[in-house]
Amino acid sequence: MTAKDKPVRMEERLYQNRYMVDEGRPHVRIHHQAEDSPQLKTLTRICPAGCYALDENGRVQVAADGCMECGTCRIVCQATGEIEWSYPRGGYGILFKFG
Ligand code: SF4
Repeated sequence: MTAKDKPVRMEERLYQNRYMVDEGRPHVRIHHQAEDSPQLKTLTRICPAGCYALDENGRVQVAADGCMECGTCRIVCQATGEIEWSYPRGGYGILFKFG
């Protein structure tokens, strides 16, 4: 197997992407309810960019820096209404690098 044929790990591929942060204007927000729904908690495991995590109180928090704009969180929590999601403003957000 040559270096060219060597499989590339997903983390290495994601590292190629660039992200322009729109300071103070996150395009993903959580509307917390009394308790986090199972759907919201699931995002800590399924977001491909790892944007969701539990805080010290066990509540789900989001840091949208690095969001790949896949829309998974929007779809998964559509019925619960906990996720407010929009595309970043022009010039901000993910910049995919291919090749
Ligand atoms: S859109 Fe995709 S990458 Fe972005 S926060 Fe939601 S699940 Fe994660």
